[in-house]
Amino acid sequence: MTKPLTPPATIAFIGLGMMGRPMAARLVDAGFKLRVFDTSQKAVSDFVGAHPAALATASAKAAAQGADALITMLPDGKIVRQAVLEGRDPAIDGLAAGALVLDMSSSNPVDTQKLARDLAAKGVALLDAPVSGGVKRAIDGSLTIIVGGAEADLERARPAIASMGKAITLCGPVGAGHALKSLNNYLSAASLVAMCEALVVGEAFGLDPGTMVDVFNTSSGMSNSTQVKGRQQVVNRAFAAGFTTSLMAKDLRTAGDVAAHLKLKMPHLEQAVAYWGAANEKLGKGADHTEIFRYAEMLAENKG
Ligand code: NAD
Repeated sequence: MTKPLTPPATIAFIGLGMMGRPMAARLVDAGFKLRVFDTSQKAVSDFVGAHPAALATASAKAAAQGADALITMLPDGKIVRQAVLEGRDPAIDGLAAGALVLDMSSSNPVDTQKLARDLAAKGVALLDAPVSGGVKRAIDGSLTIIVGGAEADLERARPAIASMGKAITLCGPVGAGHALKSLNNYLSAASLVAMCEALVVGEAFGLDPGTMVDVFNTSSGMSNSTQVKGRQQVVNRAFAAGFTTSLMAKDLRTAGDVAAHLKLKMPHLEQAVAYWGAANEKLGKGADHTEIFRYAEMLAENKG
């Protein structure tokens, strides 16, 4: 096995958004040397302002120079491919052969498998290591990390991954992590919509939404949506979980693409893809995914 990624190894980190920021912060705190890049200059300067040990760079290529590993935390797999391989000043032009790439974004597994083949041809291994748990668990380093790839590559990356997450599961070869992540988010999205519709109906019937959530949480209707989004994001209309409707709609499309790729007919999943796609159009850019409750309210009043 190549040398494990232990501090003070150098890690290039690309994508300092809602999730990337706290994940990169955990790596700095663990003692890794970070070279960071984001197309938002503000994201980069805010990050190095808060974490002076990290080095700001002006491109994916510059971030990758001299790095033992590269982590991407970007919106989707197409953007990952641009940043790593095909865009302007891509990371591959800076990465040394033998470096390891970890795509921790929620990407499409079929794209990931192709990216892995293309990187392998250049002597670079890829692990897909998408995460679950949201911003709160990214901050405290307790993310679930869903890994696809070679066991030896995971063992090499484990010390770095372990500074960001607790439950680390190798699910299969490259792409397996991304496939499982999209299916997990299908369950998450489905339970959230079901809770929102139940709240809209219940409220119209005269039930108190807070009471409804409390009863769900001690009954068979309980889910992560009722437990961590019911009162905290929906009933109080905070709508600030830190994960956008647009990203959830993308994850649903990924799950739908996986099923279609395998020629499997999944009518409920197809409906979920269409529902979240339409909600994303209606709710607009930047809407939190918990605003799906507002969309359920609009549909209930025929305003969707
Ligand atoms: P985000 O939109 O907040 O952050 C994405 C960052 O990528 C932004 O800072 C953006 O400027 C940057 N970026 C975009 N294109 C780039 C490029 N070509 N090169 C460099 N930087 C670029 O998204 P997020 O919520 O942090 O999510 C990131 C990934 O993690 C997504 O795939 C998402 O589905 C997944 N995810 C998010 C959450 C969550 O709770 N937010 C939870 C689990 C997984």
